[in-house]
Amino acid sequence: MKKIAIIGTGISALSLARHLPTLDITFFEKSWRAGGRLSTRKHNDLQFDHGAHFLSPDHGVLGFTEALEKVQAIKKVEAFYTPNYLGQSTKEMKSIIIGNNGIQSIPLNLHKSLHYPTHFSTKIEKIERAEKNYYISSDKDQFGPFDMVFACIPFEQGVTLLQDHIDFKNYPTPTFNSIWTVMLGFDKRLGTDLQFGYYLTKEISFFMNQNFKHEQFDQESWVFNMRSEWTKKYYDIEPYVLEDYVINEVKKTFGSDAKATFKKSHRWKYANTKQSLRDLVGKTYIPSIDHKLYLLGDWSEGPAMQDAWLSGKKLAKHIEEFNLKI
Ligand SMILES: Cc1cc2nc3c(=O)[nH]c(=O)nc-3n(C[C@H](O)[C@H](O)[C@H](O)COP(=O)(O)OP(=O)(O)OC[C@H]3O[C@@H](n4cnc5c(N)ncnc54)[C@H](O)[C@@H]3O)c2cc1C
Repeated sequence: MKKIAIIGTGISALSLARHLPTLDITFFEKSWRAGGRLSTRKHNDLQFDHGAHFLSPDHGVLGFTEALEKVQAIKKVEAFYTPNYLGQSTKEMKSIIIGNNGIQSIPLNLHKSLHYPTHFSTKIEKIERAEKNYYISSDKDQFGPFDMVFACIPFEQGVTLLQDHIDFKNYPTPTFNSIWTVMLGFDKRLGTDLQFGYYLTKEISFFMNQNFKHEQFDQESWVFNMRSEWTKKYYDIEPYVLEDYVINEVKKTFGSDAKATFKKSHRWKYANTKQSLRDLVGKTYIPSIDHKLYLLGDWSEGPAMQDAWLSGKKLAKHIEEFNLKI
C-alpha cells in the first residue's frame, strides 16, 4: 500500500483523508491540535468559536452535513439574527449548523474517526525528492519515504513549502481577506435579544453570542469580527487597543453598562478566500509535474468550510480516477 503524507489537519485535509481510497496515511500538523481555522478557545467557563462560526444548512455540498452527523460533530439550531444591524434590517430566526461542543467538534470528531497517526506540533519546512519518493522535514526530524504528499494549507504558505517542486508561475494567485476577531466576556447580559448578525457598526462586520451554543447562560460571551478592509488598515494594531475599542463600540451600540471581564483577540492572516483558484482558472488543486505532490485548501474552491471539504473530496476523486490509484 502506498504511503501518504498529509500536511495540515484543517477541513480540506480531513476531507481528503476521508475520501482517499487508502489506509496508510500520516498527518503532520504544526499546531498542537487538529482543525486549523475551525477553532474553539476556552477560558475558564467561557468558550469562543473565534475562527469559523457556523455552517449554512443549504451549503449545497453533497454529503458534507451527513458526514458531520455521522461523527456526531454538529447540531442544528434556530438563532435570532439580523442581516444588517447598522442598516436596521428586520430581525428574524435563522436555521444554522453549529459544532456540538464548539466548532472544534467538527475537526476533532472527524480526525478521531479516521484513526490515522498524527504528528502534532510538527511544522513541515522542507520537502525533498529522492528517486521516486519524497521525504518531508520539520526543524527537528525527517519523515519518509512517502509515495505522495498533499499539502492542505493556505496558498501562500504552500508556495513557500512547494516552490522547489511546482512552477507557480503557471498559476494565478488566489487572494485572501484578513480578519481581526475579538473575544469578549461581560459581567451581565448586553441587553440585546440577537444571537448573531452582520454589520454591527461601520467597523464590526459580524457578531455572535456564544452563550446559546454552550449553555452558559450566566456568562455573557461574544465574538466580534472586524471588517476585512478595517483589518487591512489596522493590521498591526496593538491587541489591547483593539479590544478596548470594540468594548466601547459594543456598549455604546447596545446601550449597555456591562463590564468586560475577559478580552482576547486574534488576527487571522488567511481568514477567507476573496478569489479562488477555481474562479481564476477553473482548477481546484495544484499538482507537481510528477503528480505526486499536491497543494489544495479552501482557497481552491471558495470562502467557507464547505469549500475546504469540497477541495479535499474533488482531489480524492481525481486521484482515484486518473490512473493514480493508490
Ligand atoms: C474569522 C473567520 C471566520 C470564518 N467564518 C466562517 C463561517 O462562519 N462559516 C464557514 O463555513 N467558514 C468560515 N470561515 C472559513 C473556514 O474556517 C475555512 O474556509 C476553513 O476552515 C479552511 O480549511 P482548510 O483546511 O482549507 O485550511 P486551514 O483550516 O487553515 O487548515 C490548514 C492547517 O494546516 C496547518 N499547517 C499550515 N502550514 C503547515 C505546515 N507547514 N506544517 C504542518 N501544518 C501546517 C495549519 O496549522 C492548519 O491546521 C471563517 C474563517 C475565519 C478565519
